[in-house]
Amino acid sequence: MWDEKFEAMSTEEMQAFQLEKLQETAAWVYDKIPFYKKQFDELGVAPGDIKAVEDLGKLPFTVKTDLRDNYPFGLCAVDLKDLVRIHASSGTTGKPITGPYTREDRDQWGECMARTLTSHGIGPDDIVQNAYGMGLFTGGLGFLLGADTIGCTVVPSGSGMTERQITLMEDFGCTVLFATPSYTLTIAEKAQDMGVDMRELPVRVGSFGAEPWTVEMRTEIEERMGIKAHEAYGLTELMGPGVAFDCPAQDGYLHINEDHVMAEIIDPVTEEVLPLGEKGELVFTAIQRRAMPMIRYRTRDITELKRETCSCGRTLLKMKKVLGRSDDMLIISGVNVFPSQVESILLEVPEVEPQYVLIIRKKGYLDALSVDVEAKPEVYELGEEKLKEVEGAIESRIRGVIGIGVKVRCVPPKSIERSEGKAKRVFDARNM
Ligand SMILES: [Zn+2]
Repeated sequence: MWDEKFEAMSTEEMQAFQLEKLQETAAWVYDKIPFYKKQFDELGVAPGDIKAVEDLGKLPFTVKTDLRDNYPFGLCAVDLKDLVRIHASSGTTGKPITGPYTREDRDQWGECMARTLTSHGIGPDDIVQNAYGMGLFTGGLGFLLGADTIGCTVVPSGSGMTERQITLMEDFGCTVLFATPSYTLTIAEKAQDMGVDMRELPVRVGSFGAEPWTVEMRTEIEERMGIKAHEAYGLTELMGPGVAFDCPAQDGYLHINEDHVMAEIIDPVTEEVLPLGEKGELVFTAIQRRAMPMIRYRTRDITELKRETCSCGRTLLKMKKVLGRSDDMLIISGVNVFPSQVESILLEVPEVEPQYVLIIRKKGYLDALSVDVEAKPEVYELGEEKLKEVEGAIESRIRGVIGIGVKVRCVPPKSIERSEGKAKRVFDARNM
């Protein structure tokens, strides 16, 4: 453990700590951010009303549009001169989201990432290749902060120039890889083309995040790379990666750094707080940040929480691995479909590669889902009849598991564009 005091704290001590920080934060945002003062006043709640951790439920929610509406610094509680860093989300839809940090915020982020990486078995002796995009996106510099805090040797390769990534890994003897899961697959494939067996290289651990991935994808990466694959979870709105992380238990849950970020599960419709163990929308409150504290941020991720002493020794609250954000959920002719469900099925089919895209089109009044997936080269060579058989098997499996009709097409090897960062695997052509 990186910080035994907090990571293995008793529930009573943790809640006492959270209460103190929550009270400070509520008073801070009420005083410094007009947006929050207005929200508190409208609900008739004052910072002084917080007398127990449960009183968090009295505070107003923050939603993504609040961040966009207040772009760039409407939710920032400090002067720009007190900031040491400003990140921003990519802003593919509308305005981006700003992530400002004071020096203290940034140092705390480093601590949260150091806990994450330590949990993944990474230490000061490791040589880390950081193949996340380095820039406005919180992934690259967030992982860098964690590795710096621990004292790893960092190779900041950034994303792209995949051949060079592999050469660096060989030449420098890197023991750890940071990247998105989809870019890791791209690296593994390129290595194969170059005749490099990744399993023979010293790289032994991967710390992955920034896009949802299934357990099947994790296993696929572990096999191709000959490494142990771990997960870091986060959001630009909260701090970036470092909000939650998996541990050696890998029991389908992630530990939340709850002394920094308090978590609740609510009913997304009634907005009522649900008890531990119930499934609902994940809501986070950042209780130590000063530049941009976040009050009850609705993540739109659907999951559940669990409190127990983990086999790894940590007592930090656990959240079930998120398999897809509500934002990623597709509604196809009235049926809810997560791309991760399709991914799980595809990865169990030995004849295809883990490279796929989902395409949704309008067909009369109905929606039509089609899936393009790459056949393995040796399967593709067997010709049309074999491909038809594979397509039919996948179609009936998807129909059986998800309950929707689908058209599957086995496409030629390497015909789907490779990811160098966050993969784009869904094309919704219904409104085009
Ligand atoms: Zn654990």
